[in-house]
Amino acid sequence: MPNGRRGGSGSRKHGPSMLEGFNTTFARAARYVKAPPDLLENIRVCHHLYAFQFPVRIRGKVQLFQGFRAQHSQHRLPTKGGIRFAPQLDADEVAALAAIMTLKCAIVDVPFGGAKGGIALDPRAYEAEELERITRRYTAELVRKNFIGPGVDVPAPDLGTGEREMAWIADTYNMLHPTGIDNMACVTGKPVTLGGIRGRREATGRGVLYVLQECFRHPELLQSTGLSGDLEGKRLVVQGLGNVGSHFARFAQQAGARIVGIGESDGSLYAPEGLNVDNVLAWRAHTGSIRGFPDATTFDSPGACLELDCDILVPAAVENQLTAANAPRIKAPLIVEAANSPTTPEADLILRRRGKVIIPDVFANAGGVTVSYFEWVKNLSHMRFGRMAKRVGIQTQRRLIAGIEALTGGTFPAALREEVLHGIDELELVNSGLEETMSQGLQQILATMERHGIEDMRTAAFVCGLQKVVVAYEQLGIWP
Ligand code: NAD
Repeated sequence: MPNGRRGGSGSRKHGPSMLEGFNTTFARAARYVKAPPDLLENIRVCHHLYAFQFPVRIRGKVQLFQGFRAQHSQHRLPTKGGIRFAPQLDADEVAALAAIMTLKCAIVDVPFGGAKGGIALDPRAYEAEELERITRRYTAELVRKNFIGPGVDVPAPDLGTGEREMAWIADTYNMLHPTGIDNMACVTGKPVTLGGIRGRREATGRGVLYVLQECFRHPELLQSTGLSGDLEGKRLVVQGLGNVGSHFARFAQQAGARIVGIGESDGSLYAPEGLNVDNVLAWRAHTGSIRGFPDATTFDSPGACLELDCDILVPAAVENQLTAANAPRIKAPLIVEAANSPTTPEADLILRRRGKVIIPDVFANAGGVTVSYFEWVKNLSHMRFGRMAKRVGIQTQRRLIAGIEALTGGTFPAALREEVLHGIDELELVNSGLEETMSQGLQQILATMERHGIEDMRTAAFVCGLQKVVVAYEQLGIWP
């Protein structure tokens, strides 16, 4: 993604902090979990936080940057979590996001502890070459303190970062560990040509789609929303056309949904007949903004999209977007949190009281870390998924077709033959693993709601993750 479009969000630090939000839900969830209070307290807090300043020469002058890396819990190693470049980033935000990662990994059975990191900067203010030097210097600082490594802590992309930054991190780590055979597993979300995995780039957005599709298989969950059937014809609003939002919006459109609204940092679009996502992306690439997109009404405010008339609202940008101020005016009956912490605790309460169903971030956007896990496994096995089995699969299918033809005396349909003999490749395996993970995750959360009589999914998702972390602590013998 060109540097010019990347997303800092200006002054995002208003309203309650993410840490407050995490602690509020944690306290609610802890009541349902059988564990000693001191173990729960130990799980709540962030265990390791490295905050550091580092200098980089920018346009002839030395500039100081504030870097962070938080490892919330090492009950499983490595720890895992994104790297964000955002102007207002601070230690609390990183610690909260790392804590969310611990529960997120547990919910989707990804065997990592939670982590998060980043640099307090607006990536739009720097040239690519400057960002590269900043990222490499940041990585070197993590190496110095043993805060990165295939078995220690494995970053990934997040707000304001992508494959390019992950490639710089991998290369810097590699240079500092010249004989390390597993070096590529030190970071995920890399370009495929550099040890990445097919499907990781779009994994978070695709995961959100799988979650939504699974929701429609559970009418009891959607009862209060009045929504039924499937995604076909449903009116969606997506806030944020970055990595997560743009892929999600595309996939949802392909699945038959109508994207009636889109919000970006410079405004919102509304078109009740539906927006073509690819055309909006092309318009933004061409003009530098979504504003003025033909056949749509443009609103000045990025937040206007949140209050549009629609069936499903998908905040996929930054935190604290649904607040006590706008929660009474939100029309969508179903909200899927693709971004991290888009809803403040006050808004959460108001929305729940208004009967809205919220699929919480701690689960909804877990597709990214799920496929990051697949990438990490691929890097450690040093082999592309499907490489050994593809031909065997094709041969088996060929024999099956021959058998069917011999038994029936007919000819297998040509179009179907092509499909059956195509063989399974890495992308199909990744998407299959992702879909299975997200649908299993939702089912586990629903089972938790039923077992404990919990009415909101956020609390149930926390309970679900927390129970698994408690078991890990107890079974691993790391709790005295
Ligand atoms: P990104 O930087 O690629 O995209 C963010 C987009 O939001 C940008 O297009 C930016 O212009 C826009 N934006 C910023 N402020 C806005 C505002 N106030 N209103 C509307 N749009 C605004 O980031 P991303 O990777 O897509 O991440 C988005 C969210 O998803 C973050 O909360 C992130 O933590 C979360 N997330 C990302 C991943 C991942 O794999 N990238 C995984 C899990 C969760």
